[in-house]
Amino acid sequence: MGDPLVIVTTRLNRVLGVDADARVAWVEPGVLNLDLSRAVQHLGLHYAPDPSSQQACTIGGNVATNAGGPHCLAYGVTGTHVLAVEAVLPDGSVETLGGLAPDTPGYDLRGCFVGSEGTMGVATRIAVRLTPDPRICARSSSISDRSRTRPRL
Ligand SMILES: Cc1cc2nc3c(=O)[nH]c(=O)nc-3n(C[C@H](O)[C@H](O)[C@H](O)COP(=O)(O)OP(=O)(O)OC[C@H]3O[C@@H](n4cnc5c(N)ncnc54)[C@H](O)[C@@H]3O)c2cc1C
Repeated sequence: MGDPLVIVTTRLNRVLGVDADARVAWVEPGVLNLDLSRAVQHLGLHYAPDPSSQQACTIGGNVATNAGGPHCLAYGVTGTHVLAVEAVLPDGSVETLGGLAPDTPGYDLRGCFVGSEGTMGVATRIAVRLTPDPRICARSSSISDRSRTRPRL
């Protein structure tokens, strides 16, 4: 083991591109979770994984921890929404794990990377799946409210 190294990704905070038709966004790892949903809100899309730290946590951190949240009960945790990860590996090489194809051939190294807590490398670009906003949202504060408020889908 060599000397420890601290890497800060705070300034890697750009949404690099959004393909609304394909519902895919390429982002840098320092993009805040909530900022991504805000950036695509005007397209009727959002990024579904919503840890309760979403105002402060980053997509890179979400990938490293395979973060979940309330929406994940319906849509799945972070791993379900990560299509590809460009990462700098411990030997300094840069690899893209996964891809945008529906069924990327080969071993699922993207799946190994998600949840690996930074032990496999440093994510530098991430392709995430975007989810259409629901057409109707209903909010209720009690069970009796809920019985009166039935959204028509
Ligand atoms: C108040 C609060 C509420 C929370 N709620 C939830 C919740 O509802 N659901 C949930 O799952 N978690 C939750 N968490 C835990 C945490 O917020 C999440 O796990 C989040 O995904 C971490 O993201 P972060 O940007 O804060 O990462 P950090 O804490 O900065 O890093 C977490 C790990 O990811 C690694 N990492 C960060 N960036 C990269 C990168 N670019 N490449 C490789 N590795 C990287 C770090 O080395 C570290 O091991 C909560 C935390 C807090 C403080």
